[in-house]
Amino acid sequence: MAKQSLILLALNPSPILDLMERTLHAADFKVATADDRPGLEKSVQEAIPALIIIGEKFADRDGLSVSSDMLERFPTLPIIFYADQDTPGLVKSVFKKGLSGYLYSPLNEADIVDEVRNSLTRARKLGDWLRREVKRTTSSLTEKAKISEAERAQLEAIIANIQDGVIVMDENQVILFVNRAIRDIFNLGEKTVVGKPLKDAIMNADLRALLSRSREGSFKYHEINFDDGRIFNAQYTPIPGIGAAVTMQDISYLKELDILKSDFIHTISHDLRSPLTAVLGYTELVERTGPLNQNQQEFLRLLQGSVQHITSLVNDLLDLGRLEAGFDTRREFVQLEGVLKYTLDMFDAQIKKKKLNLTTEVAGNLQAVRVNPIRIRQMLDNLVGNAIKYTPEGGSIRVSMSVQDKQTIIKVEDTGPGILPEDQNHVFEKFYRASNVPDNVKGSGLGLAIVKSIVDRHQGRIWVESIMGVGSTFTVLLPTQE
Ligand code: ATP
Ligand code: MG
Repeated sequence: MAKQSLILLALNPSPILDLMERTLHAADFKVATADDRPGLEKSVQEAIPALIIIGEKFADRDGLSVSSDMLERFPTLPIIFYADQDTPGLVKSVFKKGLSGYLYSPLNEADIVDEVRNSLTRARKLGDWLRREVKRTTSSLTEKAKISEAERAQLEAIIANIQDGVIVMDENQVILFVNRAIRDIFNLGEKTVVGKPLKDAIMNADLRALLSRSREGSFKYHEINFDDGRIFNAQYTPIPGIGAAVTMQDISYLKELDILKSDFIHTISHDLRSPLTAVLGYTELVERTGPLNQNQQEFLRLLQGSVQHITSLVNDLLDLGRLEAGFDTRREFVQLEGVLKYTLDMFDAQIKKKKLNLTTEVAGNLQAVRVNPIRIRQMLDNLVGNAIKYTPEGGSIRVSMSVQDKQTIIKVEDTGPGILPEDQNHVFEKFYRASNVPDNVKGSGLGLAIVKSIVDRHQGRIWVESIMGVGSTFTVLLPTQE
């Protein structure tokens, strides 16, 4: 073992140098000498000594500062310091600098060999400990990397195999990941899409609309329709630090159910209408058959009121059926301001009765829009009607119309009771009435369903924003044709 160890002597020529060379040779060490700083440097780099003995003065340099230099770069290299004589304080600075041994004259052979062997043993132990630590840390890091790699793979497998489509993209809407479901939904096969902008990689108008709308910040959901009848609900979710994800669920079966339900309602309403007309007709005839007492007259009026109520409900349902079936195709250029005037005139008495404070604000640049005026009137009647119906006496209602980015914006705001967040998503469904409507405020829950169908038929959008106790705002966007 000792035979293999090379001891480098960085000492000026002197009897001590000769003594050390001889002694170490005799103790089976290999010995090399360096005459100056560059020589020392070269030997350390190339011969890789196991230990250096450096003199207090070495080639006109201070041995202690040369040693510090060396230790900066080779911190585990054992260095023994040799001084011609032991001066007070020297030993302290030698060990303070991190050198591993100290020799001084007068010297005998045993002193030299003992000091060298001790330093080597300590260096070996330090080296062993270091290697062990490095190995331990490395293996624990590898272990950790393996675990996180396994977790990553597991997560990837889950996302890859779930039924919902998942697209992940960066801030610039460049695709980072798509799963199997997305490939199937858009018939992508094995086409490379990762690294491409989403709008180029997947051609779909609805998906594009979702992306551009989600940038505006207001639309997070969008229906994606395919020619073969499949319908998906797509949701846009921003992911901080990455970009965004689009997830898609197949809602074709829900849509089918909805169609079945609508068909059913349509058939029932249609079948109900004729008998209702008959009932109403006969109640009118009864009066003509002879004089009725006051009670009879009173009951007849109640009967007529109820039949009229059911008839209007049935008419609403039939109307909704017609709208949903797409029979509503009449289009003409209409000044919305004019339609609004008719609506407000109709409600004038109610507004006065409830002492509501009504304001309207119509932008000067409002253009005529291509719509069905009857339907738009129906839409305004329902929105303004709701605002009047649900806002308590003395409250305020504001109707505004403006234009922005080729869209006409209609807002109906009120200071009513508001709609609970959990109800807000449902108020546009048929027969849905929010949980906070007072018992004495009657309604069938069809008004907003009709409004929604009308807006959809006009390629528009509608949503509600509401704060409990403050009020509700219904906003309609209608595309403005050139
Ligand atoms: P109708 O079919 O006679 O219109 P409705 O008014 O109850 O009945 P919708 O107009 O569809 O039905 O409204 C659905 C529900 O939404 C209402 O029952 C009510 O709970 C809530 N809602 C609608 N407009 C407002 C509003 N301006 N303020 C508070 N709640 C409202
Ligand atoms: Mg209503």
